Amino acid sequence: MKEAIRQAKKAYALGETPIGCVIVYEDKIIGRGYNRRTIDKNTLAHAELIAIKKASKKIGDWRLEGCTMYVTLEPCQMCAGAIVQSRMTKVVVGCMNPKAGCAGSILNLLQMPKFNHQAELTTGVLQEECSQIMKSFFKELREKKKNNSKI
Ligand SMILES: [Zn+2]
Repeated sequence: MKEAIRQAKKAYALGETPIGCVIVYEDKIIGRGYNRRTIDKNTLAHAELIAIKKASKKIGDWRLEGCTMYVTLEPCQMCAGAIVQSRMTKVVVGCMNPKAGCAGSILNLLQMPKFNHQAELTTGVLQEECSQIMKSFFKELREKKKNNSKI
């Protein structure tokens, strides 16, 4: 999770919502990603999808069986869907996202019994650190907006 947080900080430095993700296979990181939605002007450029793409390339298969994803924020519906599609074995989440999360907050797409795959799920890992990055990012953003409106 510490490496996922490092990825989130890369997004932060670019002015992107700080979300980071890594995928681990046999104790090795095989995919990293951070949110690049705004700079890439791409809805699909979420940290999880970038990490999945890299992990699949590394492993040479779309199936990520035996892999564990560490992500700083609870995945959205798109990413949770991709996680199920990739057959990811396990997902470890930092902090939850009550407004958009689909690993338990709004839905739990990762563990719907009717789908052909369910992922193991652990939440709240380094939760405080993960949510602190988000909080300071949005606080900074609000302050910037406030200062701009004064000009
Ligand atoms: Zn997402």
